[in-house]
Amino acid sequence: MGKPLSIIIVSSDQEEAFHVVREVKAQGFSPLYQIISKKSDWDSRIHEEDWDAILVSYRWNSEVTPMSLLDDLHFHGLDIPFIILASEEDFPIALQLMQAGASDIIDSKTLFRLTQVLERERRELVFRREKEITQNYLEGSLNELQFQKYALDQANIVSITDANGIITYVNEKLVKISGFSKEELIGNSHRILKSQDKTKEEWRMMWDTISQGMTWVGEIKNTKKDGSFYFIETTIVPFRGEDGSIFQYIAISKDITDRKLAEDQLLYDAFYDVLTDLPNRALFLARVEQRIFEFNTKSIGYPILISLNIDNFKRINHSLGTEAGDFVLKAFADRISKFCGLNATISRLGADTFAILAIDFLSVEDAGLFIGKLKEHLKELIEYNGYEIFLTSSFGLAGFGLAGREAEELLRNAEIAMFHSKELGVGSTSSFNHSMKEKIQNQLEIQNDLAKGLERREFLVFYQPIYDIATKQIVHWEALVRWKHPKKGMVSPADFIPMAENSGFILPLTKFVLEESGDFIKAMELLSFKRIGVAINLSPQVFVHQNIFNWVVELKESKDIPFQSIQMEITESLAMKNMAETTPILANLQDLGVKISLDDFGTGYSSLSYLEKLPLNTVKIDKSFLNDVKKGSTQARLLVSIIHMAHDLGYKVVAEGVEEKDQFELLREFNCDMIQGYLISKPLPSQSALDFLQKFTGQID
Ligand code: C2E
Ligand code: CA
Ligand code: CA
Repeated sequence: MGKPLSIIIVSSDQEEAFHVVREVKAQGFSPLYQIISKKSDWDSRIHEEDWDAILVSYRWNSEVTPMSLLDDLHFHGLDIPFIILASEEDFPIALQLMQAGASDIIDSKTLFRLTQVLERERRELVFRREKEITQNYLEGSLNELQFQKYALDQANIVSITDANGIITYVNEKLVKISGFSKEELIGNSHRILKSQDKTKEEWRMMWDTISQGMTWVGEIKNTKKDGSFYFIETTIVPFRGEDGSIFQYIAISKDITDRKLAEDQLLYDAFYDVLTDLPNRALFLARVEQRIFEFNTKSIGYPILISLNIDNFKRINHSLGTEAGDFVLKAFADRISKFCGLNATISRLGADTFAILAIDFLSVEDAGLFIGKLKEHLKELIEYNGYEIFLTSSFGLAGFGLAGREAEELLRNAEIAMFHSKELGVGSTSSFNHSMKEKIQNQLEIQNDLAKGLERREFLVFYQPIYDIATKQIVHWEALVRWKHPKKGMVSPADFIPMAENSGFILPLTKFVLEESGDFIKAMELLSFKRIGVAINLSPQVFVHQNIFNWVVELKESKDIPFQSIQMEITESLAMKNMAETTPILANLQDLGVKISLDDFGTGYSSLSYLEKLPLNTVKIDKSFLNDVKKGSTQARLLVSIIHMAHDLGYKVVAEGVEEKDQFELLREFNCDMIQGYLISKPLPSQSALDFLQKFTGQID
C-alpha cells in the first residue's frame, strides 16, 4: 500500500488525467481521485472530501476557466492546494493564476516535480490546518481565561468549600470584607460568617440544591469579625469529580451592602418620618387597618384615633428659626411617645400634626380623659437655647363606627374634629360628629386648591377707587384679590384669606397682588395718571424676615415706580399682635415714601392710643361704623371725634363702604377727607378700572 492521497483532476482530456494518476502511483502513492470534466461535477465534488490537492488542466476547455474555479474555491473558503497543469508554452500566461493564489504550475507533459509539489503542498496544508486549529483553540481559551478573570474580578469575593462544607480556599476580597484572616477562614465552616437573614428551612433548601449538583444563586447577610454585617449576592457552583460525586463548591459573591442599605433606607423613608423617626401616615394607616381587622374578627381593641396639632407652631419657626422648630417637634414627639407607652402607635402626619392609635380605650369618653392628662403633660415648657417654649395643642377624636369603619375615613374624621377644635380656640378637644364634616371638608378642599390656584392663574386683582372729597378726584385705589375657583366660582377673600394666612400661602399671594398692583400703577402712568397710588392689604405673616420691606423695594426697582404710589393697609389687630416687630418695618417703609393706612378702624379694639403709636398716614373707618349713623346720634358724635383726633395727629381719614349719597353728604360735613364704596364704584378688574378713571368726571350723583 502506497501513501494515501486524495486529489481532484480537472481535465477534459482523459489521457492527460490518467497520465497524472499513473505518475502518482508510480511515485508510491495510492490515490483516491476524481476526474472532473464538467462544471456541474466540480460544484458537487469539491465539498465531498478534505482534498489534498486539485490539479487543473490549463487547457481545460469547458464553460469556465481555471481562474473562475480558483475564485470559486476562495469564494467557498476552501483551503485546497490548486495546481495548474500546463504545457510549457502556456507557462507565461498561467503565471497569472499563481498571482491569483494557485500553488504551483507543473509541465503537463513531463509532470516533472509533480509528486514533490503534492507532498510539499500536503505538508503545508496539514501545517496550515493545525495552525488554524491551535489558533482557534488559543483564542478561545484566552477569551475564556480573560472572561473568568474578569468575572472573578467583578464578582470579587471567592471561596471554595469541600464536600463537607469546610472552607479550603478564600481570596483576598473575602478576607477584606469579612475581617477574618485567611487562617481563620480556611479549615472552618461557613458558619464562621454567621449569616443572619435565612431560616433553617432556607439553608436546607440551598444545600439540597447544591448537593444535587445544581447552582444556587441568592443574597446572604453575613457578619464581619467586628460584629457589623455586609450583604453579598452569591452564586454557588458545585463541582463533580470523575466518579460523579461532588468534591467542592465554589462560591463567587458580590458585595451588595450599599445597594441593600439604600433599599432599606428607601423602605424606611417610605414608612417613617425622618425628623422624629415616628411612623408616617402610610404606616399609621396600615396599623389602623390591622386594628380594625382585629376588632371586627376578635372584638378586641376598640379603634379610636386621636389627631393633634400644635397651636401656632409657625410662630416658633418664624421667631426662632426652623432649627428651633425641628428641635421642638422632636421634643414634642418624644413626649407624646413616652406618655402613650409602647403599645400605642404615634405618627407624625404632617408638619405639626400628629396622630395616636392607643389600644386600651373602651369608649370615646375614655379617650377624652386620656387626652386631658396628655394635655397637662405636654404643657411643660420645652427649653431651647435658653428659651422656654410653651405649647398648647388642639385635639380631635374619631371612634370606630360613628366616625367611620375604614382607616382612612377614621383618620380624616379625627383631623376634621381637630380642625373644629382649632376653631373653638386653641387647646380644645372635639370628638367627631357629622355636622362638622361638611364645613371643615370644604375648608380643607379650599386650602388644597389655594396652592394650585396661583399656577393655574385663578387669582385676579380688582381695584376699588378712593375719592377725595375736596379735590373731587380719584386719589388712589385699593387692591382687592379675587379667586375664580374652577368649581366654586368666585370665592370671597373673606373666606379664603384666613386659610391662606394659616397655610402660609398668604406670602406668595401677597407678592402676587403687589406685582399686579405694580403693573396697574405703570398702566396708569402710561395714561398720564401720575402719582395715583394703590393700597395693598397686608396680613401679619408678611412681616416675617422683612419680607414685605424687601418686596416693596424690589417692586420699585423692577417696575420703576415711585414709592409714593405704594400704600399699605394694616389692621389694628395686626398692628397690636406684633407691635415690636411690625412697627419698625412700617416706619422704614414710611421713610421711603410708602403710605400706611390703618384699616377697619372702629371694629375690634378701636383703641385710640394705637393711632398715636403707629407710623400712619391714613385711617380707614370701617363701614359698620356708618350703619345707621344719623346726625346728632352718639354714633355720629363718635365719628366726628375720631376724624378730629386723626386730623390732630396729621392723618387723613377715609370712610369705607359708602353706598348712599346721604352718607357721603354727612361725611363731607364731618370733614372726612376721602370716601370708598359702591357709591363711587365697586371693585373693578384692571382694564375696567382704567376705563373708569378716564371717564370719571368727579361728579357724584
Ligand atoms: P377690606 O380691606 O375691609 O376691604 C373692603 C371690603 O369691602 C372689600 O370686600 C370690598 O369689596 C367691600 N366693599 C367696598 N365698598 C363697599 C360698599 O359700598 N358696600 C359693601 N357692602 N362692601 C363694600 P372684599 O373685596 O370681599 O374683601 C374682603 C376683605 O378681604 C378685605 O376687607 C380685606 O381684609 C381682605 N382682602 C382682600 N384682598 C386682600 C389681599 O390682597 N390681601 C389681604 N391680606 N387681605 C385681602
Ligand atoms: Ca382694606
Ligand atoms: Ca376695611
